Amino acid sequence: MKTDDELKAENPELYSVARKGATEAPFTGKYVDEHAKGMYACAVCGAELFSSDAKFESGSGWPSFTEPANLAHVELRPDDSFGMHRTEVICKSCGAHLGHVFDDGPADKGGKRYCINSVCLELEREEEK
Ligand code: FE
Repeated sequence: MKTDDELKAENPELYSVARKGATEAPFTGKYVDEHAKGMYACAVCGAELFSSDAKFESGSGWPSFTEPANLAHVELRPDDSFGMHRTEVICKSCGAHLGHVFDDGPADKGGKRYCINSVCLELEREEEK
């Protein structure tokens, strides 16, 4: 596990989001408009978090998913900061803050919107066949 100092030196933005709970500015992340097939892994520890199959266009400015690739890989925790009642999404294996989950996702796919910071993800692209 990388220490805070190591992560900060290597990737200051990832450090501030994953370890400090910051949010990247909307429409700035590298995966907002990504449509490639593959698996989005945790940028800190490599755990498989979200499949491209669950990614959808939310218009929010952050990569959005209807569900995690494996519910056991994420932890959901109530977050009442900033006067809001939200649910924080955390990487279960390394504790990285990933984003939040909201109940305004596509109704036909479970109604959830996992709103995730691009910087916390690393897309492992599927081999073109
Ligand atoms: Fe992780």
